[in-house]
Amino acid sequence: MVRDRLSRCWIGLRHRVHEHRALSLTAAAAGSLALGLLGWVLVDHVGLSHAGVRPSLMELLEQMGEEQDRPRDENSSSLSPLPPKSRSWRSPLARQCSDIDNGLRSRLNKLDARSSSWRAFVKIDPTNFGERHDKDAFGRRIDATPRVVVLHETVYSLTSALNTFMTPHPRDEDQVSYHTLVGQDGRVLDIVDPLKRAYGAGFSAFLGEWAITNKKLKGSVNNFALHLSLETPPSGANANGSHVGYTTQQYDALALVLSGWIRSFNLPPAAITTHRHVDLGGERGDPRSFDWSELQARLAALGDLCVT
Ligand SMILES: [Zn+2]
Repeated sequence: MVRDRLSRCWIGLRHRVHEHRALSLTAAAAGSLALGLLGWVLVDHVGLSHAGVRPSLMELLEQMGEEQDRPRDENSSSLSPLPPKSRSWRSPLARQCSDIDNGLRSRLNKLDARSSSWRAFVKIDPTNFGERHDKDAFGRRIDATPRVVVLHETVYSLTSALNTFMTPHPRDEDQVSYHTLVGQDGRVLDIVDPLKRAYGAGFSAFLGEWAITNKKLKGSVNNFALHLSLETPPSGANANGSHVGYTTQQYDALALVLSGWIRSFNLPPAAITTHRHVDLGGERGDPRSFDWSELQARLAALGDLCVT
């Protein structure tokens, strides 16, 4: 009985809301505009007392737009927070079908043929990597296929990075790893299987996409990323903005690893990006002093930049 009445009430309410929907929307829009204008007057007043400069209404609206572009605070909602709007990535790797360096091609092919002498798999502590998830922390299906390559640098030595990855990190927020490390001497250490998930980036997104697979942590590209880190030259073990860059052996090995990933996962070269680009925390600037033209010449020589 009570349930019937409640049900009738609910249907009636829905009917009325539907009837007055257009009116309600207009009223809401007018209300927002009035609040906005009131806000402008108040901000204008405060602004005058502080700076003596009047922000225009247009400037304020632009500021509001910028606010909306920022990722929402996860704690403010029990719903899944949305990633920031797409930040476009203009790949420095241009399509290159001519001017292929045959000497370079021959060197890389020879190197590739003896990869067992410079490439090895190294086991790290299992707390520092995991499975790729096909559902997010809110139970929704997500695509875990690797589709972006994030380049990093180690800042300290390869040995120091390996020690970190071999140390157990039981707390989710401390876990860290890359799929592959490339040493100054061209040595390649594969430490996480590309089909598994490495914890190479924290708060991050690529082309407006992230995945939240743990409600305690912020959105990240890790679930669909491949992470590769270049060993920093010894003189770069600091927070300076640049260093002497990477060795020829490193660029050779890097190109061969990336060429393998491009082919295995059918990645466009534009899917190769940097930690600096995907980072949303504003703290990561790596890899510093990376020369894209060195990578471009090698990927072109390997036939990966002229795909029809
Ligand atoms: Zn990084």
